[in-house]
Amino acid sequence: MSEPRPTAQADDCYSGDPELLPMDEALARIDAMLRPIADDERVALRDALGRILSTTVVSPVDVPGHTNSAMDGYALAATDLPADGERDMPVLGTAWAGRPFDGTVAAGACVRVMTGAVMPQGTDTVIMKEQVREADDGASVMVGGGHRPGQNVRQAGEDIAAGARVLEPGKRIMPAELGLLASLGIGEVAVKRRLRVAFFSTGDELRSIGEPLALGEVYDSNRYTLHGMLARLGVDIVDLGVVRDTKDAVRAAFEEAARAADVVISTGGASTGEADFIAETLAEIGEVRFWRIAIRPGRPLAFGRLGEALFFGLPGNPVAVMVTFYLLVQPALVRLMGSAAPLASPTVRVTCSTRLRKKPGRVEVYRAVLEHDADGRPTVRSTGKTGSGLLHTMSDANCFILLPQEAVSVEPGSEVEVLPFFGLA
Ligand code: AMP
Ligand code: MG
Repeated sequence: MSEPRPTAQADDCYSGDPELLPMDEALARIDAMLRPIADDERVALRDALGRILSTTVVSPVDVPGHTNSAMDGYALAATDLPADGERDMPVLGTAWAGRPFDGTVAAGACVRVMTGAVMPQGTDTVIMKEQVREADDGASVMVGGGHRPGQNVRQAGEDIAAGARVLEPGKRIMPAELGLLASLGIGEVAVKRRLRVAFFSTGDELRSIGEPLALGEVYDSNRYTLHGMLARLGVDIVDLGVVRDTKDAVRAAFEEAARAADVVISTGGASTGEADFIAETLAEIGEVRFWRIAIRPGRPLAFGRLGEALFFGLPGNPVAVMVTFYLLVQPALVRLMGSAAPLASPTVRVTCSTRLRKKPGRVEVYRAVLEHDADGRPTVRSTGKTGSGLLHTMSDANCFILLPQEAVSVEPGSEVEVLPFFGLA
């Protein structure tokens, strides 16, 4: 029932197949169909995490609001720094963060300041407390040479000036943006409405967790990986369950999903087997833009439109689902969400320590581990087995190695393109 998956022996069916769409062309065709969400809503700051900003944020204030000390130490006027030798300076008092020193500092005197304290009037320079000699009674300090006028001081508006454009529409709100908005005193922002994504699995062999497995049956894992990948993107998820391998069931699922969501994703049934109805049904009640691409794993991938919804019919094999989701679906979802920037981390070129068998004519994606060699240099190795049903190889991996369509096998020591899974943001 399922299309034979590419194995080392069965690979040949790929090379030179004129009906396989090159990956770049597939991405371009997807791109041409994307109409980012226009509607927006206002949400409280904490709820904005992961959402896409829909307006420009202009700073209502200077940040920092006042010129303040960057160090614990002593604030004085730069004109009092000794040209040579040491100078004994009386300490007039203390300024804490949030408790300013009251009064003006006379020439020749200083004030003890804590990090974040407003610079006392008459001062413009801070000497770190480790760099002075404090008198035993704390009433004065000896200041030596070698200090720079204005040092260790943060100027008002140095981070952000009032009226400055701070964030632009299309920015994804991450922890740094939450903090940045909070630092401006902004408690609510306008964001794009959430994208609604419906998905279902197809396959007569699929069972749900908790059900016993008869001969030949498997648990439906794709709905869980998809749930995880979609949840991390911050979309609204509509899980439509398992759909049986009949034309009527697939058609009914398509119709329900297209009503429920902006984007519909299915897994399985995307090839040309007797029980594969995805591409056929899409052609009948929707619009097919392509359905086979030159990528391994992931060749049978149907893309098109179902009514107003975009449709991605992913392969059934669990690794192929993840590879095609990350490389083709996620970039599209991110654009639809209204993001101005791609979410994916940039790729890096790293020396590969393993041999990779590759045929020209398709992009090949390997699960791999990016690590450091004994000399501390970054290196990457394949996780080994390449079967597209072996989900544990995804779990073992922390990156993909991407070999372009024209590439042939890679020998150890060659540089390859690596797409890391991890990111701080
Ligand atoms: P298909 O693309 O429907 O021919 O499926 C290819 C392979 O992936 C078959 O071995 C299926 O049993 C397996 N498969 C399909 N869907 C799922 C799923 N939701 N969870 C786990 N395995 C699946
Ligand atoms: Mg199937």
